[in-house]
Amino acid sequence: MPDTADVLCLESLHVHFPIQGRLFDRLRGRPAGAVRAVDGIDLNIGRGEIVALVGESGSGKTTVGRVITKLAQPTGGRMLFDGRDMTSVQGSSALRPYRHRVQMIFQDAYQALNPRHTVFDIVAEPLRSLRLVEDGKQLAERVGEALASAGLNPPGDFFARFPHELSGGQRQRVVIAGALAVRPELIVADEPVSMLDVSIRAQILQVLVDLRAKHNMALLFITHDLPLAWLIADRIAVLYLGKLVEIGSADEVTFNPRHPYTVALRNATPQIGGNVGRAELPALQGEVPSAARVPKGCRFHPRCPVAFDRCREEEPPPVEVGSGHTAACWLAT
Ligand code: SF4
Repeated sequence: MPDTADVLCLESLHVHFPIQGRLFDRLRGRPAGAVRAVDGIDLNIGRGEIVALVGESGSGKTTVGRVITKLAQPTGGRMLFDGRDMTSVQGSSALRPYRHRVQMIFQDAYQALNPRHTVFDIVAEPLRSLRLVEDGKQLAERVGEALASAGLNPPGDFFARFPHELSGGQRQRVVIAGALAVRPELIVADEPVSMLDVSIRAQILQVLVDLRAKHNMALLFITHDLPLAWLIADRIAVLYLGKLVEIGSADEVTFNPRHPYTVALRNATPQIGGNVGRAELPALQGEVPSAARVPKGCRFHPRCPVAFDRCREEEPPPVEVGSGHTAACWLAT
């Protein structure tokens, strides 16, 4: 659980991508619109806290991760890191201290690792580029320490290996080691186990949980899998079409969901489905609509089995439904 002030705070964060309209529409001065990938998110992450960001493909969760790691620029709102406004900080030298403190773990270890580099060079790269070591001895120590923390032991056995000489689980551990090497305060992990065998997933999750315990590192765990989120996270934030529709403790959101979308996500997962709480709604049908055509009113209403007239006209605000638990649904209260 968080021990001090928040390490990260997102305030009304927006990421809209303009759509290049058709020539005819542009000539007539018709607005081309925008893809509203992230549409006003408020989210805080405490030091040492694990927050899971859960949603289907197209919900905007990866875009949130890319904004936090400064791989994408927000079009509105603010992002505070350790109390400092980082929203408009850009450029490699201005961002160097930030990149030292915030790292990202990508989903696809095959693509994240350069096949022509050894494990040592891959893990050493951020230490070199951020100039965090003074000599070769210190570099070897930091690389060995990161590999050991990621569960690659003895680390020296992996130094000279290339990615193709590793199993899928070992490759993902190298990706984690690369992120860990700089001793970040926050890691954004985007679907870090979704491409791994089930048996390896538990090991990688354990590595992430151990890291939090050892280094008090905060983690934003991005996933489409509610059971995984419940296993690893202190809090779960549920994202739908660029908006947070529910947020609360992992137990509350999983076992006492108050938004029909969260209920449907839970019903889609047999491990934690069943007849607990408000789980009587049918499982989710169809897909998340395009973020270029966000429905009026509650954005979930076209898929919501209990939608009523007001839902088609007015967007529900988040309301408190329990301690630290909010849901954006007209029926939540
Ligand atoms: Fe469903 Fe209406 Fe609640 Fe939206 S506000 S989730 S449409 S009941």
